[in-house]
Amino acid sequence: MIITILTAYPEIFPGSLGYSVVGNALKQNKWSLEIINLHDFGYDDRKSIDNEPFGGGPGMVIRPDVIEKALLSISKKKGQNRHLIYMTPSGKTLNQSKMAEFTHLDQLIILCGRFEGVDQRAIEVLRFEEISIGDYVLAGGEIASQVLVEGCIRLLPGVLGQPESLLEESFSKEFLEYPQYTRPQVWKDAQNNDREVPKVLLSGHHEKIKQWRSEKSIQKTNLFRPDLLKKEKKERK
Ligand code: SAH
Repeated sequence: MIITILTAYPEIFPGSLGYSVVGNALKQNKWSLEIINLHDFGYDDRKSIDNEPFGGGPGMVIRPDVIEKALLSISKKKGQNRHLIYMTPSGKTLNQSKMAEFTHLDQLIILCGRFEGVDQRAIEVLRFEEISIGDYVLAGGEIASQVLVEGCIRLLPGVLGQPESLLEESFSKEFLEYPQYTRPQVWKDAQNNDREVPKVLLSGHHEKIKQWRSEKSIQKTNLFRPDLLKKEKKERK
């Protein structure tokens, strides 16, 4: 999978994408990252990429001609299945199933906005899908694009050491993941209290452990994300 990023701040990359499982997969060429600096396609001697918004208002808007030139600089291989995304708080909210869909593509081209955003004509004419990472506003699309890419790459075959972890995790099913515990079995905290691991997890009784985890999953989902349970009920109907 090729990830191509269009950004005014290329220094932000690879950022988090250079570390851990996703970074290792990058080093092993299981995916590749191409960064395109929008300023290389600036419209004047100062390589500017933005102008004031028509109709007035604060801030600056990235120009469509700059975005088009940057896009045309990306070589297109025959038969390649590529998709364009613009990171924006006013887009469709990203979720786990959307990420899984993206993993079937050969190339994902992601436009990171800055300032007030980008000219709407660029989004429509060049056919960018508008994606948000949540209901809040960041200062730029770079971190948002890293969120999307990290979530997609870890789903690619051969990226996680133990792919089974994908089956049990939150959002892979209707419930959030159950709580996890590790050593020490009895943790003496700074107040000198003995904090024990739930006994059932030490029992070696697989059925009971499964049952306990399932109960905890439901409890946690009820507490934090009752909307997921409602959604599940609706989908079953
Ligand atoms: N004026 C815009 C916000 C611009 S924020 C509005 O009100 O909708 C500047 C840039 O940050 C955006 O172009 C986008 O690329 C990025 N950004 C900010 N919040 C984001 C979010 N929740 N999801 C994805 N991208 C985001």
